[in-house]
Amino acid sequence: MDLTTTRNVLRSTAEKMVASEPELTRLDQVIGDGDHGLGMQRGFAAVVTLLDGDSCNPQDIGALLLQVGTRMMSSMGGASGAIFGTLFRAGGKAIAGEANLTTPVLSRFLTEGLNAVFQRGGAKPGDKTMVDALAAAAEKAQALGNTSLEKALPEIAAAAQEGAERTKDMVAVFGRSKTLGERSLGHVDPGAVSMSLILVFMAEGLVE
Ligand code: ADP
Ligand code: MG
Ligand code: MG
Repeated sequence: MDLTTTRNVLRSTAEKMVASEPELTRLDQVIGDGDHGLGMQRGFAAVVTLLDGDSCNPQDIGALLLQVGTRMMSSMGGASGAIFGTLFRAGGKAIAGEANLTTPVLSRFLTEGLNAVFQRGGAKPGDKTMVDALAAAAEKAQALGNTSLEKALPEIAAAAQEGAERTKDMVAVFGRSKTLGERSLGHVDPGAVSMSLILVFMAEGLVE
């Protein structure tokens, strides 16, 4: 996927994340403070504006994702602004200079982004956060090696969805939902759902 295609796919992904606000709001109302949908909506609307603007002229895929992450961090707010901003910024830096988004490049983005999220927020797999979806996606991307992105991205997105689904069986120890403790059991983590939706929408954008 070249720079122009990646930019178009990110734009359609951002629009679909904006449209996912009601679902994400509902999920955060159950186990958090209810602001996750609005934060994502605000952050991804700012990303659409960024990608539509003439001042966004990244030279490569890494610079593009870095700019997207910077925009998220400054507009999204909440825990997710820092966490998703960190993923895109650190992941983008790790693939600086890449002209194409391939499966190995996406794998490096996810793995290095995950490491930065670990450092930033301290959540580990099993703590009922977006890390559970991201780690599953990164692991799948690594396992797929040099598979074409067209084949790999739907599988990576499916792995993230399974990772998000598994958060139902976890007790939250981070963020607002930790105050619920055992009562968070049985409900998916909103940030994990957002993480999986980003990858699902990217996979959809690739074939549209
Ligand atoms: P807030 O918790 O500040 O209201 P949001 O509702 O926007 O922020 O985001 C909540 C999501 O952020 C959670 O569902 C979880 O996935 C993610 N999150 C919270 N803390 C962490 C952390 N330390 N590491 C990774 N993800 C986290
Ligand atoms: Mg919240
Ligand atoms: Mg909040």
